[in-house]
Amino acid sequence: MAAAPLFRRVALIGLGLIGSSLARAMRRGGLAGHIAGHARSQRTRDKAIELGFVDSVHAAAAGAAAGADLAVVCVPLGAYAEIGAAIAPHLARGAIVSDVGSVKQSAIRDLGPSIPEGAHLVPGHPVAGTEHSGPEAGFAELFDGRWCILTPPPGTDAAAVERVAELWRRCGSQVEVMDPRHHDAVLAITSHLPHLIAYTIVGTATDLEDATRQEVIKFSASGFRDFTRIAASDPVMWRDIFLNNREAVLEMLGRFTEDLTALQRAIRWGEGDKLEELFTRTRAIRRGIIDAKQA
Ligand code: NAP
Repeated sequence: MAAAPLFRRVALIGLGLIGSSLARAMRRGGLAGHIAGHARSQRTRDKAIELGFVDSVHAAAAGAAAGADLAVVCVPLGAYAEIGAAIAPHLARGAIVSDVGSVKQSAIRDLGPSIPEGAHLVPGHPVAGTEHSGPEAGFAELFDGRWCILTPPPGTDAAAVERVAELWRRCGSQVEVMDPRHHDAVLAITSHLPHLIAYTIVGTATDLEDATRQEVIKFSASGFRDFTRIAASDPVMWRDIFLNNREAVLEMLGRFTEDLTALQRAIRWGEGDKLEELFTRTRAIRRGIIDAKQA
């Protein structure tokens, strides 16, 4: 006999890459009795039904949340406060509200005030993704072998945290619980700054005079090509990440700028040993990522 689902009714607010992947992974694992989805456009709602990863779709977030024992917010960070206020009054008693957003202090700031008495806020961040967006971009295996970081505010009910952890484990992830501020600092350097650099490099290339720009595209070798892939990520999602993780990103950007200036100086003064020493150290980091199976 199949195990009972972990949650009776799950509301997925946002049905793009992450929301639809979560729906598919929950389907694969039989983790939800009913998956109710909300997206703002009719097109996405129709697509979700056509692709069959939800049981019902709702034009209003409140409709998806009605009676849910778990709601997972999967929209850009800038929409959190509005979504939190819209869903909160409709959840089942003792429901869990979670999310998948890339910045955690702002998630708590924007969802926290709406959480009703007796309900639990357990923010999460699956460290998995692609540069693609929308309901067609999702797939059930997205979270397999990847980390999901949970950042419950102090005093959160331990049983609620464990239920969300179990959900992600059954979606294929390894789970780590982290302080939200620490999460935002770590992700600023591992994810947010690399995206900022990619956006900058591709932006600089597009500002070149026309003839040069054409050649950049024609001869784009792996370096530039890899940056263009990252810089193709969703503009609204990334705008919201930078606006909501401002402090940590600016801190890491300051350090990065100093290091870049040091490299600039080494190149100017022909200090090959300094360049080689850094490039040797960075190569070891890559090997570590491959060994940790996160490549
Ligand atoms: P996505 O593919 O662009 O999907 C976003 C979804 O949210 C769409 O269904 C969209 O509806 C809906 N939406 C947008 N604004 C809304 C609003 N104001 N009210 C209601 N629904 C709204 O984005 P995603 O990549 O899944 O990202 C979702 C969240 O996951 C973000 O917070 C992001 O930080 C986080 N995340 C992303 C990645 C990644 O690699 N992409 C990885 C980890 C975490 P329509 O389709 O109708 O427009």
